[in-house]
Amino acid sequence: MDTEKENSGWTDEELEASVDGYLDIQTRYPNDQKFNKSLEHRRLQSGVLAGRNTKSIDYRLQNITALFEDLGLKTISSYKPKVNLGSGITARLIKILESKGLITLDSGTPSTQEKSSLRNVQRAKQRDFVSEPEGVQIPQQIVRTTKTYARISKVKDWILFNAKGVCEGCGQPGPFEMNGEPYLEVHHVKHLSDNGTDFKTNTVALCPNCHRRCHHSDDREAFTAWLYDNVGRLEKE
Ligand SMILES: [Zn+2]
Ligand SMILES: [Zn+2]
Repeated sequence: MDTEKENSGWTDEELEASVDGYLDIQTRYPNDQKFNKSLEHRRLQSGVLAGRNTKSIDYRLQNITALFEDLGLKTISSYKPKVNLGSGITARLIKILESKGLITLDSGTPSTQEKSSLRNVQRAKQRDFVSEPEGVQIPQQIVRTTKTYARISKVKDWILFNAKGVCEGCGQPGPFEMNGEPYLEVHHVKHLSDNGTDFKTNTVALCPNCHRRCHHSDDREAFTAWLYDNVGRLEKE
């Protein structure tokens, strides 16, 4: 069978059905017990995957194992990780996992606007503005690509639940409510961009001020050291 052709031809519905099938097997065999594969594949073929043979379903579920391994999610051991995913398949699978709340996509930093606005403040100080700037009615739009990390939602959920609405940086409740809960953000103490892990031992719940302080302030290193000293759960990486 031509697997490359197989990969490119898969619809989002088929990919989602594969993910659902994978999760469904895990629900019914929570301890990774042995099960009858062909029976499971036939079950999948009775739905959206009717047009796929058992071999290509097997192949797709192996792809899912490879991706789950990368993301730190639980895998099914009888589907050995197969990483030869077709182009775009990984991104589409990640989108599906995000829509199911299994992972959270995160740029790893609250915003990078500060750096340029800081430069602007310095420039403004140097210049003597005689008149107030008018501004622009419709600012230009620029599309930028940002590196995005797929994180396990369970860790984020646990960190927020454990914080009970109180910032682990300043001890104050989140500054406003979102969905009825004090708003806090989840920060990776060793940044994801520095290969920090997505474990509880590297993650804190912070108010937006403390979060930005961690990323952008002059005392960010001292503040991070303070977090290590004062949040018992944290381990240096
Ligand atoms: Zn705070
Ligand atoms: Zn952060």
